[in-house]
Amino acid sequence: MKLITVGTVAFDRIETPFGTAEKVVGGAATYISLAASFFLERSGVVSVVGGDFPREVMDDLRSRGIDLEGLEVMPDKESFFWAGRYHYDMNTRDTLETRLNVLLDLDPTLPAAYREAPYLMLGNLDPGVQAKVLDQMAEPPALVVMDTMNFWMDSALEALHKVIGRVDILAINDAEARQLSGEHSLVKAASKILAMGPRHLVVKKGEHGALLFSGDRVFFAPALPLEDIVDPTGAGDTFAGGLIGYLASTGDHSFENLKRAIIVGSAMASFCCERFGIERLLELDRASIDRRIREFVDLVDFDIQVVDQ
Ligand code: AMP
Repeated sequence: MKLITVGTVAFDRIETPFGTAEKVVGGAATYISLAASFFLERSGVVSVVGGDFPREVMDDLRSRGIDLEGLEVMPDKESFFWAGRYHYDMNTRDTLETRLNVLLDLDPTLPAAYREAPYLMLGNLDPGVQAKVLDQMAEPPALVVMDTMNFWMDSALEALHKVIGRVDILAINDAEARQLSGEHSLVKAASKILAMGPRHLVVKKGEHGALLFSGDRVFFAPALPLEDIVDPTGAGDTFAGGLIGYLASTGDHSFENLKRAIIVGSAMASFCCERFGIERLLELDRASIDRRIREFVDLVDFDIQVVDQ
């Protein structure tokens, strides 16, 4: 198994100015592993759900090469539930409700088959849980990508710093990068965050694309201008899943290949926004993904003569 993902597998209620989805399957690990499944034959999920989580969804994930041995089912409890409301610009949202439910009891023990995986995705979760998963890997993985959020910066900063110091790529949004570094300038923020340990920092800016910082090198990928954004929930996780899935499938961690991985992640995220929840990801195929990657290439392709001094 090439990739292990730890994160939530959940139910979401989503309100946008254009519509509402009452109870859809979501969760960071769901989006990440689905996005990565287009690049990898097999990956594993470490998470927990309640007895209310639909069996058909689990069977569907399994049929896509997503192993669920690491997904604990607590029959007498309810799954993690999150409700959010997007504003008109769809880049900002309010959390209306978070019911941790089963997540309160998440104390993962990695199945033996997961411990040798060379790629590890630490989805947004309690940094203590992220560290526990990292500790159980047989050897340090070839590449660890981590996501987190402001909630953990407010409530568990010390534990968060410890995990950040152990990962290769930190992928967070612009507000989170500013909060973590205490810098408004994303360039200064990146330099401070890279000094905390990661070799690369990805700053996700929603509709405004994503930045990759690596040493003193910077790369920018736009987001695809979509005619209709139905629901951006999970776009950040889908981006991360595409990114790590592509890196794991190529085994190349060079800056040039990281740039490609950022484009792949951006293409996957653009699909995610086209329907509520995971709906669009479920009907995707490789040909559509390749066509969308081509649209990205065309979007930023221009010819300009610059005279070397
Ligand atoms: P994203 O839009 O990429 O930030 O991810 C949205 C997903 O994260 C939703 O499907 C939620 O179920 C999940 N989520 C929301 N809040 C949390 C939280 N506090 N911890 C872990 N996962 C969360």
